[in-house]
Amino acid sequence: MVAPTEVGLRFPDWPQFDDSERSNLLHALEQSGWWRMGGSHVDSFENEFAAHHGAKHALAVTNGTHALELALQVLGVGPGTEVIVPAFTFISSSQAAQRLGAVAVPVDVDPETYNIDPAAAAAAVTSRTAAVMPVHMAGQMADMTALAKLSADTGVPLIQDAAHAHGATWEGKRVGELGSVATFSFQNGKLMTAGEGGAVIFPDTERHEAAFLRHSCGRPRTDRHYMHAVAGSNFRMNEFSAAVLRAQLGRLEEQIDTREQRWPVLSGLLARISGVVPQRIDPRADRNPHYMAMFRVPGMGEERRNAFVDELVARGLPAFAGFRAIYRCPGFWEVNGPEETVDEIARRCPTAEAINGDAVWLHHRTLLGTEQQMHDIADVVADVLERR
Ligand SMILES: *Cc1c(COP(=O)(O)O)cnc(C)c1O
Repeated sequence: MVAPTEVGLRFPDWPQFDDSERSNLLHALEQSGWWRMGGSHVDSFENEFAAHHGAKHALAVTNGTHALELALQVLGVGPGTEVIVPAFTFISSSQAAQRLGAVAVPVDVDPETYNIDPAAAAAAVTSRTAAVMPVHMAGQMADMTALAKLSADTGVPLIQDAAHAHGATWEGKRVGELGSVATFSFQNGKLMTAGEGGAVIFPDTERHEAAFLRHSCGRPRTDRHYMHAVAGSNFRMNEFSAAVLRAQLGRLEEQIDTREQRWPVLSGLLARISGVVPQRIDPRADRNPHYMAMFRVPGMGEERRNAFVDELVARGLPAFAGFRAIYRCPGFWEVNGPEETVDEIARRCPTAEAINGDAVWLHHRTLLGTEQQMHDIADVVADVLERR
């Protein structure tokens, strides 16, 4: 066997582009306007992205964090309300709610899929709850069947944070076909990217119009006299980003196909390594774009996990420590934290507590590599673990 260090783990680059990005960018440059009010690419991208996800409308915005903030605002989130979020997620999920003056309430996640636990979410609903936010962790949809029931039983709307889940499905239904508002990110590492960018998709025209108004300083499309109808901000996407994203969308499904082929190989190999438990895939999440290749080393603990990740990186793997439980970040507590202590939240979120110290993820470009490279990855992981 060739030692993994000699293999030269050269995975495909990210982001990827070709002449379609190049010519779209040139077109955007040479058309008369560089913003959405003058150009054509933002409008076209919104139509293409909505159609791709089975949604009625899409609104392109500056980034995924703003997409969440805007979507939550349109759902009525503001001072005096609460938003239920998974304790294990990227911090934007809670920050967007907190920026609107709402309290973010973290709840526990499933130990195998790392997605929000619907029973924990149900237990956290109060008369002030304005939204429940599943985050489709690493591209795998949360349990949208149980969450739809929770929403129907309580009347609390869902908002899907689909920042990892471009092109995902749940029992054959696309993100836009599940009846709730959903948000996406096009930040540099995401599955389609323009460096920065975001989108909100809507199942209805009313909320799309409300969001359009607020994403453009509350100014109606036809206004010529600065008659700003509602409060808002400037969350508009520019023409260059949309030009790039139209090309990126054209590459998405083929890349998902490749990652869908590679993940079962890699997870099967990882599962054979003593102490390693790859993310379990719920068969109902029947198309998974695999934003991250995730696994746990249960019981490893934060310090050893961080050192383990450093060694994987030194051996050529684009490896990262999993998200920190949001309530363990100082930033979570600066504005609109819940009226609970860290310890109280930790006690009711035992899984987030554990994952906080034992999750590892690999960049999705690894899953665009060859089948042989899946073996190389597993060899490196096994070797580093064995030496420790
Ligand atoms: C990336 C990400 C966001 C935020 O997206 P930005 O475009 O970086 O603002 C939100 N939620 C999750 C789960 C993310 O991973």
